[in-house]
Amino acid sequence: MIPTNRTKCRCPSCGAEQVWQDECRRCRTDLRELRLLNESIQSLERKLTEALEVGNYRLALRYAQKLEQIDPVLLKGILQQLGLSRDFQ
Ligand SMILES: [Zn+2]
Repeated sequence: MIPTNRTKCRCPSCGAEQVWQDECRRCRTDLRELRLLNESIQSLERKLTEALEVGNYRLALRYAQKLEQIDPVLLKGILQQLGLSRDFQ
C-alpha cells in the first residue's frame, strides 16, 4: 500500500508521519517521488470528478482505471466519496 493521503505522508523508511515535503524530517529519506505520486493521484481525482460532473463517463472511467493501477484501495475511497461505491453483500 502506498503511504499517501491528501495532507500528510508517512515515511516508508522510518514511519514518521508528516506534512508533504521532499525529505523526511526524521531520517532524511528522499520523499520527492512519493510527493510527485501524491500530486498525480490528486490530479487524477480532480479530473475524474470533473469528467463525472460534465457527464463524460468514458473519460471518467479512464481516470478511474489509472487510479486503480496506482492503488485500488485509494480508488475505492474516492468512489465512496463520490457516492459511486456499492457493497455487493
Ligand atoms: Zn523517515
